[in-house]
Amino acid sequence: MANILVIEDEINVSSFIKRGLEEEGHTVEVAYDGAMGFSLASSIDFDIIILDIILPQMNGIELCREIRSKIGFDVSVIMLSALGSTDDIVKGLETGADDYLVKPFKFKELLARINVMLRHKDSGNYTKKYEIADLSLDMETKTVTRSGKVILLTSKELRLLEYFLANKGKVLSRTSILENVWDYNVDMSTNVVEVYINYLRKKVDKGFDVKLIHTLIGIGYVLKEG
Ligand code: CA
Repeated sequence: MANILVIEDEINVSSFIKRGLEEEGHTVEVAYDGAMGFSLASSIDFDIIILDIILPQMNGIELCREIRSKIGFDVSVIMLSALGSTDDIVKGLETGADDYLVKPFKFKELLARINVMLRHKDSGNYTKKYEIADLSLDMETKTVTRSGKVILLTSKELRLLEYFLANKGKVLSRTSILENVWDYNVDMSTNVVEVYINYLRKKVDKGFDVKLIHTLIGIGYVLKEG
């Protein structure tokens, strides 16, 4: 059972989501514009926020950025997009959304994504520490450092790095990364893995002599020293 905030101005959509989630035993609050959404999100500790992109007052992209900078990364964000273009999806993920759904979607699809997120939160026996070369990741504090310098990652980048560290030295295919970091059957033609590996490289490898993330063209990626 989770505490969920739905931020969506289309009343038929928000009430349909609220009713469905309540039937599953979740507690659901609804906000009908960006400002109300932000004020609810700042005052109540939600597990998941379902956030529409097109909203009055503050759109979902801006709102997600605000949530990440002012509230943090403990709350998972699922973005709803009527647009469905890769650009909008990438923009949503860049601002720190953990997942997205393109409208119209089936309720059971939304529910599946929510269940995956809740499983991840529950399985969080986050005492794990990983290291490779001068890079370290402490899952308890979610702190990443390289050469002692703290690196700030979004929640998805953190999951991607954790997956690499848990499999260091092993070649990971794009499909296995998609399945393990994104969990569900995403459209295999998506370039989300490439996009995220680029983000991670900029933060983790750029400016360091020893590169850790390596591409094996046509095969996949590997995290290793040199
Ligand atoms: Ca809307």
